[in-house]
Amino acid sequence: MNSNLVFSYQLLCCSPGCDQPARYRIAAPWSHGASSELKNYGLACERCRADRLELARIRHGRLLLADGEAVGQVDAYPLRDGSESPA
Ligand SMILES: [Zn+2]
Repeated sequence: MNSNLVFSYQLLCCSPGCDQPARYRIAAPWSHGASSELKNYGLACERCRADRLELARIRHGRLLLADGEAVGQVDAYPLRDGSESPA
């Protein structure tokens, strides 16, 4: 009786107590030598975006980087259709 399970699956906001669908991925560009990716700080809905962004920036500011590691600024990347791109 759970044949709709796949279709009802949704990414949710990471804020404690918030169950809204996620609209943004909070992340910062990270690179180490030749490899690079987005360092993920969680997901946020429209309402929690500013709060999550601020928390992520605080955490991000405390990062200790190893030799050769570089990080960019934390930003909110809109989620759409399973893909994402910088705002
Ligand atoms: Zn939220």
